Amino acid sequence: MIPSSFEYHRATSVADAVAKLAANDEAKIIAGGHSLLPMMKLRFAEPPCLIDINGIAELKGIAVDGDHLVIGAMTSENELIASDLVAQHCPHLINVAKLIADPQVRNRGSIGGDIAHGDPGNDHPAVMLSLDAQLVLHGPDGERTVPANGFFLGTYWTGLEEHELLVKVKIPVRKSGMGYGYEKLKRKTGDYAVAGASVVVEMNGGQISDVRIGLTNVAPCAIRAEVAEDILRGQTPSDDLTARAAEAVRDACDPAADLRGDAEYKANMAAVMFSRAIEKAIADARG
Ligand SMILES: Cc1cc2nc3c(=O)[nH]c(=O)nc-3n(C[C@H](O)[C@H](O)[C@H](O)COP(=O)(O)OP(=O)(O)OC[C@H]3O[C@@H](n4cnc5c(N)ncnc54)[C@H](O)[C@@H]3O)c2cc1C
Repeated sequence: MIPSSFEYHRATSVADAVAKLAANDEAKIIAGGHSLLPMMKLRFAEPPCLIDINGIAELKGIAVDGDHLVIGAMTSENELIASDLVAQHCPHLINVAKLIADPQVRNRGSIGGDIAHGDPGNDHPAVMLSLDAQLVLHGPDGERTVPANGFFLGTYWTGLEEHELLVKVKIPVRKSGMGYGYEKLKRKTGDYAVAGASVVVEMNGGQISDVRIGLTNVAPCAIRAEVAEDILRGQTPSDDLTARAAEAVRDACDPAADLRGDAEYKANMAAVMFSRAIEKAIADARG
C-alpha cells in the first residue's frame, strides 16, 4: 500500500528537530524508517509530517565517557557490529545486533529508533534493561537522563514526552566478573523473536553477586524478570537454581497470542531462552 500524504522536514540539529516537532502537530521523527515506514504503508500510522534526523551529526558516533559507553541514537546496527569500542566494552550489543532482522535493515535501522519505537518485539529494549542503560532525552525544556528500567510502559508506549527526542544511550562498560548472554527464538532468519532473554550476570568468588534479566516479546513491552533475579542473586549456580529461576521467568510473562504461538508456548519458550542465556552469561563471566 502507499502511505497517506505527509510533509517532510530535514532537521539540522537536535534543537532544530525539537523545534520542528513542536511546530508541527502530530509530527513524527523518522530515523532509519524500518519500523515507521512499514506502519505508514499499512496505514497503521498516518503522521501528517515527518522530521528526518538522519543529517544530525550530534546523534551519531560511539565513545567511552568514564565508565560508560555512549552511543548516539542514530548509530545503525551495522555500525554497532563493526565498532571496536563496542567489542571491547560491551560485546553483548554486537551479538544482539547480529540477530536483528537482515543486513539491509541493519544498515539503516538505528539503536535509537529500535528503543524509541516501544515495540515489544524489538530486541534492544530488553537488552537495555539487562545492561542497566541510561537514556538521554532532549525536549523543549532541555536534556534529561532516565534509566531504561521504567522507560518501557506498554506497546508502542515509552517514557518519551511530547516533542522529545532520544539522543544517546549510556551503557556501563564491562567490568571484571561480568558476563552476557542473549538467546532469541525465531521462526526463521530475519524474524522478530517468538521469545528472547537477555542476561547480564556479575560473578564473585563462584557466586552470582548481581544479575539482570530482560525479556523480549513476551509482554506488552520489554520487561525485567525481577523475581527470577532475586532467586539467583547471592547463589552458587546449579541446574536446580536455573530451573527455579526459569519458573519465575515463565510466571513473569504475559504474551499476546499471534502467528508466532499461543501465550503458554511463548512463556515456556522465554523460560528456555533464559536458561540458555544464563548458562552463556556465567560461562562468559568465568572467561
Ligand atoms: C523485515 C524487518 C525485520 C525486523 N526485525 C527486527 C528484529 O528482529 N528485531 C528488532 O529489534 N527490530 C527488527 N526490525 C525493526 C528494525 O530494527 C527498525 O529499524 C527499528 O525498530 C526502528 O529503527 P529505525 O531507525 O528504523 O526507526 P524508525 O522506523 O525511523 O522509527 C521508529 C519509531 O521511533 C521513533 N524514533 C526514531 N528515532 C527516534 C529518536 N531518536 N527519538 C525519538 N523517537 C524516535 C519514530 O518516530 C518512530 O515512531 C525489523 C524491521 C524489518 C523491516
